[in-house]
Amino acid sequence: MLTLTCPYCGVAAEETELSPGGEAHLKRFGPGSSDEEFEGYMFARANPKGVHFERWRHAYGCGKWFLAARDTATLQVFGTYAAQTPGPTPEILAAIRAVRPDWNPEL
Ligand SMILES: [Zn+2]
Repeated sequence: MLTLTCPYCGVAAEETELSPGGEAHLKRFGPGSSDEEFEGYMFARANPKGVHFERWRHAYGCGKWFLAARDTATLQVFGTYAAQTPGPTPEILAAIRAVRPDWNPEL
């Protein structure tokens, strides 16, 4: 079972206490963008087998949104961080590279 630690309240919450929110760090496109950019923002999502950055909500806890870095194949969690963070923290990137030195982020 997937267990993520909420960065706000510190609770190690099991997957059933959380609500998934999809891919993290999406670049938003709105009015003034091209049709292709808006279509990509609305519908195109990464679905990698490996390192993935995701949005989660501590639905049956503090209720706040946060971000998590994990491996979708092994369920290894590299870390969680606040939803307002524009990108993964250096500590999380170091944890990922320690396990997957060949990992190349596309952030
Ligand atoms: Zn929480």
